[in-house]
Amino acid sequence: MYLILLGAPGAGKGTQAVTLTRELGLVQISSGDLFREAQKKGAELGLLAKSYMEKGALVPDEITIKMILERLAAPDCARGCILDGFPRTLEQARGLEQALAKQKKSIDKVLYIKVSTEELIKRLSGRWICRNCQTPYHVVNNPPKVAGKCDACGGELYQRADDTVETARKRLDVYFAQTAPLIDYYRKAGKLVEVNGDRGIEEVARESLAALSQ
Ligand code: AMP
Repeated sequence: MYLILLGAPGAGKGTQAVTLTRELGLVQISSGDLFREAQKKGAELGLLAKSYMEKGALVPDEITIKMILERLAAPDCARGCILDGFPRTLEQARGLEQALAKQKKSIDKVLYIKVSTEELIKRLSGRWICRNCQTPYHVVNNPPKVAGKCDACGGELYQRADDTVETARKRLDVYFAQTAPLIDYYRKAGKLVEVNGDRGIEEVARESLAALSQ
């Protein structure tokens, strides 16, 4: 099964991916995590992406599509995967579709997590992430049991440099201009499943699993 998680930055894609990977037995592929890992390693891809990420802009399609297709070719994706943060443009959606079609595969479903703009800003500016396993937390909505430490692996929590209010706004503008058209694109293709992401984590997870199993 190939599943796409679609939604604005802060909609809870990474959070829901934790439950979905467990329940569906599929790997999660997060384009943002792949870029951050490449930066941590000092790889060329990381250097290429850095300036775009700092500004809250999208990394060019050509670079992003290549990175994702390479990752999709790994053996752990043979049964499918959950794509989180990709595609973010129509060009990326088409690139993905063409690559899957060559292997006689296709996207099964697109889970659109819909969240209001005020809620998105609130969430992004209170977000903390585990440096080790990338599990996301929120100071109010989903705090860790021990301050500054990941419940899952004990790793150190940090705030992403692009989670400041200013960059968060810019990332939301980019989302509405370049990524939101994908909602209609996948709706027309009959693949879109929509859930209300304004509610609590468990409720959204329950609704998502129910919607996906229909
Ligand atoms: P995320 O962790 O998904 O919020 O992504 C963080 C940043 O990585 C974004 O603001 C972009 O600069 C870059 N990025 C992640 N995914 C993509 C993508 N599919 N296309 C272009 N840029 C991306």
